[in-house]
Amino acid sequence: MGDISFSLAGRKAMVIGADSGIGLACARAIANAGADLVIGGIDPGKGGDLAAEIAAKSGTKVSYVAVDVTREEQVAAAVEEAVKRLGGLDVAMNNAGIPGWPGAIQDQTAEQFDMLFAINVRGAMFGMKYQVPHMLKGGKGSIINLASTAAINGLAFCAPYAASKHAVAGLTKSVALELADQGIRVNAIAPGPVNTGLLASMRAGRMALPSKTGGASVPMARVSEPDEMAGAVVWLASDASSYVTGTLVSIDGGVVAV
Ligand code: NAD
Repeated sequence: MGDISFSLAGRKAMVIGADSGIGLACARAIANAGADLVIGGIDPGKGGDLAAEIAAKSGTKVSYVAVDVTREEQVAAAVEEAVKRLGGLDVAMNNAGIPGWPGAIQDQTAEQFDMLFAINVRGAMFGMKYQVPHMLKGGKGSIINLASTAAINGLAFCAPYAASKHAVAGLTKSVALELADQGIRVNAIAPGPVNTGLLASMRAGRMALPSKTGGASVPMARVSEPDEMAGAVVWLASDASSYVTGTLVSIDGGVVAV
């Protein structure tokens, strides 16, 4: 008793959607906790530099793979490549997401809805689809998906985004149940507002609306920084959370308590 380990030393991890923001902050933290890591994203131009920078600080093996999560075959290939480079896979974070197109329900289009779901929902689904078989081979694993407080509460003028995050919650809980007795845990974090490009474009879109945008106020009266998501992600990836599966961990300055 008392030997709780947050260490990820020797773990083989992949973060998809790690070009910026929460994914990048969590990738840094996962490597700093000791894991070898493959980061994936749609910006290969800067990806190599990011991987080198993370590796220099963490002292672990870090590399980049290009992947557009809307393309199933690219997700499959990225996971295969990660497994080849790492020699297996036991931690995976499916982080890719976009805010969509803020606006009233009357203004939403099928094309925008489909694009939002292709990234936010199919991204998490395809990620897990290809990560799980490798974790089953290793007999253990931890998957962390990106939900949101908009997976719990509604978000006015962002209905498709909130629907996509409720869908990520459903995927997370369902896959957790499929794997609960096989050593693989599946959870999601549910951030409140985080200071990233996504939040800036979501806010700009909602502020531009002629109607009152509403929106939850934050009891802690500030947005968070991406690094503030990383502690929970390292915890979920590590053995310190060994009895945690199928849950959404809110990291939200109190938003869902209101
Ligand atoms: P961000 O824009 O900095 O990061 C989004 C990441 O997704 C980027 O790395 C981007 O390259 C990647 N991405 C986008 N489309 C992709 C695609 N087709 N294929 C692969 N990668 C793709 O914003 P962020 O706030 O760090 O967002 C990260 C996740 O956190 C998202 O899922 C978002 O919905 C979720 N989230 C953010 C907030 C917030 O307030 N910022 C709150 C709750 C949840």
